Amino acid sequence: MKVFTQKKNPITGTTEWDVQDEQYDYHQEIARSAFADMLHDTERNKKYYRALQLAINKMHNEGKEAHVLDIGTGTGLLSIMAARCGADSIVACEAFLPMAECCLKILERNGVRDKIHVVPKRSTDITVGENGDMKRKANILVTEVFDTELIGEGALSTFSHAHKYLLEEDCIVVPDSAVIYAQVIECSTLWKWNKLNDLADADLDVVLRTPQRMKDCAGSAAVHDLQLSQLPRSSFRELSEPIPVFYYDWSGRTPIIFKRTVKQDFNATDTGKAQVVFMWWELNMDTEGKIVLSCAPWWTHPDADLAAERPQDTIPWRDHWMQAVYYLPQELTVQKGAEATLISCQDEYSLWFFLEDEKNKYQKYPRPVCDCGVHMALSRTHVSYLNDGKRSKRFLEQLKDTVTNNSVVLDLNGSSLMGLSAAKIGAKAVYVLESMNLNLSILNEYAATNDLKNIHFVSEVSDEILNEVTNIICDPNFVNAILPWENLKLAHLFHSYKDKLINCSSIIPEGCEIWAMPVEFQDLHKIRIPLQRCEGIDMDIFDRLVESSRTISDSEIEAQPLWEYPCKSRGEPVKLLAVDFTDLKSTYATDGVEQISKTENPVAQLVNGFAVWAVWNIGGRQSCGPVQTPVVGERVDWDPHTRQAVKILEKAYELDSLRWSYQVTFDLNKGHFDIKLDLVEEQ
Ligand code: SAH
Ligand code: ZN
Repeated sequence: MKVFTQKKNPITGTTEWDVQDEQYDYHQEIARSAFADMLHDTERNKKYYRALQLAINKMHNEGKEAHVLDIGTGTGLLSIMAARCGADSIVACEAFLPMAECCLKILERNGVRDKIHVVPKRSTDITVGENGDMKRKANILVTEVFDTELIGEGALSTFSHAHKYLLEEDCIVVPDSAVIYAQVIECSTLWKWNKLNDLADADLDVVLRTPQRMKDCAGSAAVHDLQLSQLPRSSFRELSEPIPVFYYDWSGRTPIIFKRTVKQDFNATDTGKAQVVFMWWELNMDTEGKIVLSCAPWWTHPDADLAAERPQDTIPWRDHWMQAVYYLPQELTVQKGAEATLISCQDEYSLWFFLEDEKNKYQKYPRPVCDCGVHMALSRTHVSYLNDGKRSKRFLEQLKDTVTNNSVVLDLNGSSLMGLSAAKIGAKAVYVLESMNLNLSILNEYAATNDLKNIHFVSEVSDEILNEVTNIICDPNFVNAILPWENLKLAHLFHSYKDKLINCSSIIPEGCEIWAMPVEFQDLHKIRIPLQRCEGIDMDIFDRLVESSRTISDSEIEAQPLWEYPCKSRGEPVKLLAVDFTDLKSTYATDGVEQISKTENPVAQLVNGFAVWAVWNIGGRQSCGPVQTPVVGERVDWDPHTRQAVKILEKAYELDSLRWSYQVTFDLNKGHFDIKLDLVEEQ
């Protein structure tokens, strides 16, 4: 069955009808869920398996039967492990129904369909009793309902309910407990992801002041999860030891605490500006604390080889659990050795932090809420982009070169500060095309703070305005753009205005190029490649489900922040397409076949994907991809302020006798951008 779904075209902004498979949403959801990566997490799988074995043996050694409850069974992995460890009964529940269905098939395939009772429900809806979902309470609970923030998926209520209604008193829980760690950090790089700075030009003169309300805002409560291990070591300073801030007893011996605030004094280990708190957690899998699973970043990870050239490559990689960054509401300077107090707050689903010293105290510790608009309108990456001084200085230079007192400027992107800057520089009039209320209130506040009068916000550009315009500008980073080429919205707009722009003499940026390169991802491919087997369990059914989801939904090419996901270049970067805005065509089409390059290196060289990025011409090349020209065979350094497009291949290929091909088409009127990248195998 096919159905029509509505889709917003990111380039034209219009809504289009699309024919989709009836099961599109469900497939999309499975394809995009982090399941595959989680199942590739061998350390996680092995530690759950061992802890389950210990729990089941312990029951048997005490002369008891082992009755296992698996909450959130997913593919059924942990239940199958329990069956293999000799559990006497197993109930597996799963709230996500497509997954529960998939689970039944996996159980069948692995020959344990009769040993495991699947309940397609949320654990909190399970009934116990003769006619219930469970005949009796369980004496072993195994569950993995944790996210990067540990409790963000509702673990607290899941455990609390299970102990009240589904488990016997002397039960064993896998995992037995958890600890959340926090470390106070100075990191000006990350601070730029949180608050907009004053905008300065190349002479460091302030062009636009950030409104005070935005500087004071407590920020967003949404967790910033990231691969902390990829943050350059030189970009942050530890101001405290890792501090264990919350202990979670999953075993039922002590009650689950849904809301708490903990104050801990510590002596600063260094002098610096405390700006953020890094957070990660550890699971104690067994009752004796022998099996520990740590999500710590490399510099404090129990298994890291600190003598290695890249210690971050010596600890297990995972994407489903990263580390989290919490922004302190205000910076606080601490002196080495001086005492400070970390205040850690937790509610049912989230965490937040404050830092105090003798002089600086808070009256209350409320969960941060954005009241300035920036944290609601703009993503963290977008804030970091606007704060990227290298970029904005270039753009400002170009503005100063082209904008005069007679200029009438049209800015096509209201989630940028360049239109305001043009007004500040002295343009006669500036029109900013923007209709989103959140962006408008930010722009209005900036205009007021900086006393800008010659600026107008419009939701449509009239012919009168177009006739008047002398300069078009557009920061090529729209808030809604996900894939790099979606910012070609500006070319679409420019193209549609072209005939009426009778006085327009300049456009910034002047052009855009789309580049691509074959790569070998160090780890990122694990979020997509087939599992085949997990700890000896056949996962082929799951693999095929994900594969069919991938072809039915449109997830072949996706956006990823590649600075968090190391890869090596496996071929020279190739310019796939160049769009010159001063000489726009209606349609573009290019294709080609390129070399994959092997270097003189005895280590196995593979290619398992492609990276694609945009380069904008703003007074020179402005890369949204590599920050330096990539060298074949070497690691690539990626721009951290934008996301790149990636295609992950279903398996890795040896470099011998391989080439790669591309096809790109771009229709400016329809706003359709299509890109195909493939390996070409030679006979
Ligand atoms: N146990 C599997 C899957 C873990 S992912 C494994 O370890 O590989 C967590 C799963 O738990 C998700 O599928 C989610 O839908 C499910 N889930 C989370 N909370 C639940 C609850 N309270 N009851 C039932 N399912 C739950
Ligand atoms: Zn805010």
